[in-house]
Amino acid sequence: MLKDPLPRSLDVRKAAARGVTVSGSLSLAEMPRFLALLASDSGRVQANVECGRDEENHSVIAVTVEAEVSVVCQRCLEPMTLPMACSNRLAVVWTDEQAKHLPRELDPLISEDDCRLWEMVEDELILALPAFNYHEDPNCNEILNALDEAPADEAEPDSKPNPFEVLAQLKPGKD
Ligand SMILES: [Zn+2]
Repeated sequence: MLKDPLPRSLDVRKAAARGVTVSGSLSLAEMPRFLALLASDSGRVQANVECGRDEENHSVIAVTVEAEVSVVCQRCLEPMTLPMACSNRLAVVWTDEQAKHLPRELDPLISEDDCRLWEMVEDELILALPAFNYHEDPNCNEILNALDEAPADEAEPDSKPNPFEVLAQLKPGKD
């Protein structure tokens, strides 16, 4: 695992012309928008940013992100570790107008000369984060309930009411 931090910004057009690749780690504390979706700031993020030109001479960035973050399990509401891996190809453009003319398979990255790499990686992570996360163990909440001594009085809903019972309840003069 690479320990060097990813550069905060990069002149992506120059980097694309030269075919530069940069990689490194990022701190979750530096990604406040993504961090707001997580259970804690513990975890790690590793990114690889490959700059180059495609056949049509677009400046293209291939970004690959691997991360391990802490999120809340929606079943038991306890924190859990979520491994993440995402990648995307972005075309560097200056304006919305240029973005409209890109081929469909390329997402635009509207950027000044210095692209904020950390923000770009943060955007990718936000897009890749599942809306709901669950422990692999489908019984994680039951384990938790078992630990809680208090027996929950779970009245199981009758899926199919017995028609005779229903009739009995309707009978007058029962009491
Ligand atoms: Zn859980």
